[in-house]
Amino acid sequence: MREIVVISGKGGTGKTSLTAAFAHLAKNKILCDLDVDAPDLHILLAPRHLRSEAFVSGHEARIDPARCTRCGICASVCRFGAITSRGGVFTVDPVRCEGCKVCVAWCPEKAVAFPAKTCGEWHVSATRFGTLIHARLSPGEENSGRLVALLRREARSQATSQNKEMILCDGSPGIGCPVISSLTGASLAVAVTEPTPSGVHDFVRVAELCAHFRLPMAVIVNKHDLNPDQTKSIEDYCRDKGHTLAGHIPFHPDVTTAMLDRKAVTETPSPLGRTIRAIWKNVERAAGLAAAPSPNELQGA
Ligand code: SF4
Ligand code: SF4
Repeated sequence: MREIVVISGKGGTGKTSLTAAFAHLAKNKILCDLDVDAPDLHILLAPRHLRSEAFVSGHEARIDPARCTRCGICASVCRFGAITSRGGVFTVDPVRCEGCKVCVAWCPEKAVAFPAKTCGEWHVSATRFGTLIHARLSPGEENSGRLVALLRREARSQATSQNKEMILCDGSPGIGCPVISSLTGASLAVAVTEPTPSGVHDFVRVAELCAHFRLPMAVIVNKHDLNPDQTKSIEDYCRDKGHTLAGHIPFHPDVTTAMLDRKAVTETPSPLGRTIRAIWKNVERAAGLAAAPSPNELQGA
């Protein structure tokens, strides 16, 4: 089973639009949205939830007013300012509580409970392109890396039970915890970048991350025609570091039009469809899912 993760150094490079197009083109796969902080693949795929479960991670303090004698010790020991008193009633602000358990240990009345915390929800859903595993963290919640690991486990389990040969993931932008959790043990990273100074800067950071994990990387330069010099610097970098250049996509308003229609651009009559199909073929090859191009294909390229 091959696991392909589409990533980008920063947001707004067209990563999710491309993932949706790949989801349309890929055969025999499970889809997985690992961008748990700001998931948006579901907007294009219109999933129907088949199974939903709470994501429980860590603990939070809760004061039992019936046992509390209002001594104020808990508020004085909380380093995060999460416990306040209003009219002499002590309560915990769940957004500020870091779950350190200090107040639980110090409360002389054993009035602070410490239940497990529900930090979000995850789903197994049906879409027109196949099964999608996805989630959403509750606002302000952390532990996105653990949620990503949970989604990947579920995606593997679904791929095994449905006899699928590939998991196609929409990763998070950047190089933070959820991205690291997405890439560990994957088969191929597909980095989507754009030829702007910030795009190149963030692309290099994500490329270094993949190199650190010794993960093969295929690169797509989106809107390549907007800045040929920056595009060349990305190409030179890929050549120098041995990354596969999977292809270029020109700037085209059809991408936005497809998005507004909640479609993958390859589902529309856009001329970009042909370009993206060729790029997907290169991605499949880089992932070991398709044979090398025949001499005829090379001649036609
Ligand atoms: S330490 Fe315990 S008893 Fe004292 S105010 Fe806090 S919860 Fe109430
Ligand atoms: S668990 Fe820690 S952070 Fe949360 S209220 Fe208690 S002392 Fe403060």
